Amino acid sequence: MKAWSARPVPDLPGEAPLPVVQDTRLRRRVELPRQERASLYVCGITPYDATHMGHAATYVAFDLLHRAWLDAGTPVDYVQNVTDVDDPLLERADATGVDWRDLAAEQTELFRTDMTALNVLPPQHYVGATEAVDWIVPAVEGLVERGLAYRVPGHDGEPEGDVYFDVEAAGALGDDDAWVLGELSHMTSEQMLSVFAERGGDPERPGKRHRLDPLLWRVERPGEPAWDGASLGPGRPGWHIECSLIALQYLPAPFTVQGGGSDLVFPHHEMGAGHCWALTGKPMAQHFLHTGMVGLDGEKMSKSRGNLVLVSRLRTDGVEPAAIRTAILAHRYSDEWSWTDLLLAGAVARLDTWRRALAVAPAGSAAPVLGAVRTALADDLDAPAALAALDDWAAAALTAGAEPSAEDARLVRDLVEARLGVVL
Ligand SMILES: [Zn+2]
Repeated sequence: MKAWSARPVPDLPGEAPLPVVQDTRLRRRVELPRQERASLYVCGITPYDATHMGHAATYVAFDLLHRAWLDAGTPVDYVQNVTDVDDPLLERADATGVDWRDLAAEQTELFRTDMTALNVLPPQHYVGATEAVDWIVPAVEGLVERGLAYRVPGHDGEPEGDVYFDVEAAGALGDDDAWVLGELSHMTSEQMLSVFAERGGDPERPGKRHRLDPLLWRVERPGEPAWDGASLGPGRPGWHIECSLIALQYLPAPFTVQGGGSDLVFPHHEMGAGHCWALTGKPMAQHFLHTGMVGLDGEKMSKSRGNLVLVSRLRTDGVEPAAIRTAILAHRYSDEWSWTDLLLAGAVARLDTWRRALAVAPAGSAAPVLGAVRTALADDLDAPAALAALDDWAAAALTAGAEPSAEDARLVRDLVEARLGVVL
């Protein structure tokens, strides 16, 4: 499907260093590898609810990474999916009496509009699960043939034939590099079982070989959409296999970075990596990066609590998207933080200060702040430190009383847009 548009990235003089980032699997900071092209996969939305601040923060975080690579002279192959058929989407469509396709299309469009407003660079490939079924079916058939996936018998009104991934068989494949359940999340079995059930898994489903085996193919139920599954029978794909196949279609294995919110570490990224390993004998990604959860006024932000802060609602209320983005960037991507009205007011004031400083930026003031922002962002995308460097530059510019330099103003404006995605 089509992605969204964003402004072209201004060129900056010199070359930035590649950032050091915190890798979830390795549990330490790593230097990103020097590559001719970097490859990035960020898990996309399930389009049943408009973009809330947690989504926005995640895509802004990986946009910082994208922009860091570009400033280091490395082009990026970027892929993102849309889970445009899944249980939560179908349930929401059912509950609100709309066609699931219309709901998905409408919410995906709203997401695109939000991303354009926030100046998030688009992926080259923006792919719906419904577009990936043709790649998923033969892959799942192959796993069944190799004994790495199996059909579960019917029971209690559930039809026969749902296909599950065998985590133990997959973990026993190959050598020392083999994927093993838990290697990404570092969770205990008890933790995995509890989180699996909370996040769409079905540990108690009778007939499964292991309670943590995830669904690969759900055979058709009355009233549910279904696709031709060849030998699997009509049905629809499970969630994790969708991302594995979309990534394998467009990116090398292993690609450079897989990203998403920290709630995707398990089971989604853990299982996706297992699928990739079972299919190719290669890891899914070289590095995994995760963003912290965003709350509201100190509480967890969730649909069920009815306290979602929506980007589209803020925009309708007249909030400048650059201020939303600046408010997000006041936090490290990996931290948990909370949205507040005060935070937004602070971002609005900050942008105002920077803009006033641009008008009086003295000659020679841009080069040091360019270096400071690059240094900050090289340190695990430390956006708060980058903002602080700009604050210092602005404070100095506003009190310098020197002859304004249009050239320095242009360079700082380009810097803020190229690296932070904020348009002054
Ligand atoms: Zn995903």
